Amino acid sequence: MKKLAIVPGSFDPITNGHIDIIRRGANIFDEIAVVIFNNSAKKSLFTVEERIHLIKEATKEIGNVSVDVSDDLLINYAKNKEAFVVLRGLRAVSDFEYEMQITSMNRRLAKDIETFFVMTNNQYSFLSSSIVKEVAKYQGDIHGLVPEIVEKALKEKYA
Ligand code: ADP
Repeated sequence: MKKLAIVPGSFDPITNGHIDIIRRGANIFDEIAVVIFNNSAKKSLFTVEERIHLIKEATKEIGNVSVDVSDDLLINYAKNKEAFVVLRGLRAVSDFEYEMQITSMNRRLAKDIETFFVMTNNQYSFLSSSIVKEVAKYQGDIHGLVPEIVEKALKEKYA
């Protein structure tokens, strides 16, 4: 059976930090499903359709990556897809507590689904979708932090 790993998140928008995690995962697992979970309280800048498009474009040369969206609980989604791996990125110690809380709850809900963490490349450890949006909003330079298609999309949003 193919080993499918789910990379869940908001991806509002996808950054080079996300891509770093996806790329590392794609080298280890047979398939990576990047899934936009639409059930968080966060208000998003990009619509789900825009985010899907940006993720697809930004990951198209990786090969074994698919993109999907879900309103369900991550664990239910994973069970339906017969995926037993969730892949998350860790940037700094500040991510740890939040990730531990989610992982512990997910493990309680489904013991057979394992969460794997990948430490990001140091050059992206300060990078988040929020900070990129903040800088782009004031026309700051975000080159190299996001794929070019995302850079263009952010410029259009904040034009
Ligand atoms: P969420 O709302 O679930 O935090 P995000 O889209 O912000 O969704 O992040 C999705 C995943 O990508 C999380 O595991 C997060 O830790 C990881 N991630 C976000 N930014 C980076 C980065 N710069 N480097 C590595 N991982 C990252």
